[in-house]
Amino acid sequence: MIVYNLACDQSHHFEGWFSSADDFDKQIEHDEVSCPVCGSVSVSKKLSAPYVSTKSDQPQKKVPKISPETAVSGMNLQQLHNKFIDYVIRNTVDVGKQFPEEARKIHYGEVEHRSIRGQASPDTIEELRDEGIEVFSLPESTGLPDKTH
Ligand SMILES: [Zn+2]
Repeated sequence: MIVYNLACDQSHHFEGWFSSADDFDKQIEHDEVSCPVCGSVSVSKKLSAPYVSTKSDQPQKKVPKISPETAVSGMNLQQLHNKFIDYVIRNTVDVGKQFPEEARKIHYGEVEHRSIRGQASPDTIEELRDEGIEVFSLPESTGLPDKTH
């Protein structure tokens, strides 16, 4: 027995089982192969695709990805900003302009680990990051303009 993937002129796809390729040709010739959906005898053989069963056969779900940044609810930007600033101020030591120096000392274990804040130019922050030091930059101003919506 052989199996063919068949399609009629209405694009209905179905499988046809035949005892041989000759049998298929003969049946097609005599209009003995008809579409099970619409009964059309205008049936043609499709290239048979190998049966591979993998998870990738599943239709891909088009679910929009929600990035962590947008996964916040119940708080507007201003509140978040204030909370963050508040957290930083309560949990860090202000080292002012010594920031880059202190950050390096902490990173390289020259001083006890602690969280610090201070001033650094964008270039310096970039340098620190290049050295593998985690640096977060906060906006200069203490409050964001009120444009929550
Ligand atoms: Zn059909």
